[in-house]
Formats: sequence, structure tokens, C-alpha cells
Amino acid sequence: MIICGNPGDDLMSTTIKVLPLDLPGTFTLTYDAGVKLWEENTKGTGDKILASSYSSVDAIPKSFYTEGIEVGSNDITLTYRYDSGLNNNRVIGSETLRADVVWLKAEQYEVQRVIYENDENIIFTVVGLPSDYSCQWDLDGEGNHGNSNWLKTTNPTITAKYSQAPNGVGNIHLPENADNRRKEYEVSVKLTGDFVLPLMFDKIRVTQAGYHGTPVATTEEGRRDELASWGTVAADEMPDSGKFSAENMDGLYGTDFDGRGNSVVQYAANGIWSFFVGPVSGKCMSDKEDNGQWKTYGVMISSEPYDLGLKKEDLLIIVQHELRHVQQNVWANTSDSIWNILSTAGTSTSEEGFTLGHYSSFCELDAYFMELKNFIELDASWKYLSDDYNGKDTIKVFLEELSAARSAAMILETVEVSTVAVTFLDTIYLEIPFIEMKKGGYDYYCKAW
Ligand SMILES: [Zn+2]
Repeated sequence: MIICGNPGDDLMSTTIKVLPLDLPGTFTLTYDAGVKLWEENTKGTGDKILASSYSSVDAIPKSFYTEGIEVGSNDITLTYRYDSGLNNNRVIGSETLRADVVWLKAEQYEVQRVIYENDENIIFTVVGLPSDYSCQWDLDGEGNHGNSNWLKTTNPTITAKYSQAPNGVGNIHLPENADNRRKEYEVSVKLTGDFVLPLMFDKIRVTQAGYHGTPVATTEEGRRDELASWGTVAADEMPDSGKFSAENMDGLYGTDFDGRGNSVVQYAANGIWSFFVGPVSGKCMSDKEDNGQWKTYGVMISSEPYDLGLKKEDLLIIVQHELRHVQQNVWANTSDSIWNILSTAGTSTSEEGFTLGHYSSFCELDAYFMELKNFIELDASWKYLSDDYNGKDTIKVFLEELSAARSAAMILETVEVSTVAVTFLDTIYLEIPFIEMKKGGYDYYCKAW
């Protein structure tokens, strides 16, 4: 009996020995559809699935590698036939190997998640495990399977959560500190026969209760200086009349605007969350000048992200999202940029133009994609991506905007413009940072198109 873990993952090695070597007759190797046999342990690089019939002992492969395809029990059978002239090709003997294909999955709220929440139950299950196996779990990633009684089970399921509480039945201690803001656990289960089955993709990411990282400024003055220092788009890149100034801000946002130098990022204590500022606030394309240039002012960050306890690593992601919109507007004023091409695009459906709504799907997709990239770069907390604050769960909104931008790309008028849009969307899809997002069965899953 062999066990194949996580379909598409490991290949299990088996050797075949048939004696005597000069045994006359034919040999057939057959197997059920839930497994594939390979000649080498590197599938997908030209190795053939084995032929099924051999005319001599010497022709039978000395070994093969089994890949689990579908969960369940499968038979791999070698049959020996001999044609003596009297009985036509009679079966003389056969031997069958059972190959059980199983996989280990984790679920929270009944779904496999890209990021798991702190202090909420996670259910681990060995899917397809026959009843004659036992399990010894390793949930803390230390490699010591079954070091306490509750980690030894006779059924294929165990429930646990990760929290600040001490280690104990149903809980793994996750110390609340900055080092653990991106904590990953390599979870595995040791099955009867000492077969260690890892979790699909090896590990889970677990959030903490709070945010951890570099402290942000606490005073209003400190926040004004801090945010102003993050203005990565140079003010002199902005169209003249679109510059962030007390004059154009006072009328729109009242007296709480108190700019710092020429930075395009400003603190607005009484504002709402964070926003990109132009004549029409919150829109990625706001308004055009008489000369056809897009106006853009800058970015405002309110006290809300500060009040939520975000650290610098997290807050910078928000700032850079909004700055990306500023940059998109600056780029849209340059004739050969994708932002110029899309913002001036025509559509194949004549009644309705390629509207601000269509275009803003691309702008938002791009800004949320930058959030994912910056998240990796800045070492922010898993909690940032997982929290559904302010109605903008980053991963979820990213996928919604990807879908909306794809629909928008379908109505673009010319092949040239459509190609620009599709190439842009393909590039983003290829660079999605979490592999789970491209696998069915996860909470935030998207397909290539
Ligand atoms: Zn946005």
C-alpha cells in the first residue's frame, strides 16, 4: 500500500521486481484513473506515462512514480499471462498495489482562505483518508507530530485556533508581537506508516489581534509632517492649475487643510479615511482643464487609519494607493501611456462611451494591485489584507476590480486599444502574489482569461 499526498504534488516511488528474468510470457501494468504513473520523478518535463504491455521481464520498468490525481483508493496491478498453446494467453498470476490518494486542507468559515483570522477556529481535514489510518498532527510547525494527546486522532479532522491564549486543547499560542505580524505555520499530519502529509501549499498565514510594526506619529503636527514626507509624486509634475494648494483645498475641504510644503500628501484630520483629491473627489479621473489636461491635486489621509491602530508599514500602503491615482492622472496627460490610451478610448457599443466608470475600474485595479505588491515589499501585517475595514478588503476588492476591468476591456473599440488593455490585465494576473488566488476552492479565486 502506498499513499499519495495532495494531488499534483509529490510523486511516490515504487520498485518492481519480477523473477526469474527469463520468465516467458507477457506482462501488463494497469491502474485506476485516480493515479498517473511516471517513469521519472519529475513530471511535466517530457516523461511518459508508462506503456501498459511488456513482452519480457526485462522490458518491465524497474520502478515507477505515482502521482495522485483524484482523492480515493486506486489499484495498480501487474498481471502475468502465458500462452502455452493450449490455453490462449491465460493469466498465471498478478499482484495489486493499493494507492490511496489523500490531501490535507484547512478551512475557516467553511472556506480555504488566503489569510486565516486570529482566534477563530480552523478545521484541518485529511480528505479521502481510509478508516484504517490514524493521524498525529503538527499544527505549530515544529515538526513534532502528536506531542500531546489532543493532537493524536483516529478521525481525519482536527479543529484549532491560533491566538494569544496559551497552548492547549484547540489552541496554538501565537505571541502578539511585531515578529509575528506575518506569521506562517507549516502544518502537517503524520499518518500510519510514518507518511508525513503536508498541507496543500505547505502553510497557512495567520493574522494577529492587533497591528504591529513601526509606530506612526501620534500628534496632529507629527502626522502632518509624516504624511508630507511620503509624497513620492513630485509636485512640479502636476499640471499647473491642478496643484495641491490652500487655495484649491479650502473651498472643497474646509479649514482643516493645513498643507506642508509642496508635498502632494496631506493630513486632513476630519476627512474620511483616505482619498485622492481633484475637483471631483474620490474619482480617479476628476476633471479636465480647458487645455485638455486632467486636473489632479493630491492625497488626503484622515485620522481614521491612525485611530484604527495601523503602523507605518500598513499606512504607507494606503498612501501609495492614493498616490498611484495621482500618478495615473499625471501619466494620462502623456500621450503614449496606457492611462492616456484608456482614458480617451472609444467603445464598440455606440450609445455609451467608454465612461469614467469603465476607466476607473482599470485605475482601481492598478491601485489595489499596487497595494498587494507594496504589502509584500513593505512587510506589513497580514491583518491589513484580511481586515474588512471601511468596506475595502484589499484582496476582495482587487478581484472585483479585475473582473470589472475585464468586462470593460471587452467593449473597447479598436483592436490596438483592446490589446493594450488585455496585455495590462494579463501582466497583473501573472504577478498576483498569492498562488492560492489562482486555485479553485479558495476564498479569493480568479481565473486567467
Ligand atoms: Zn482607489
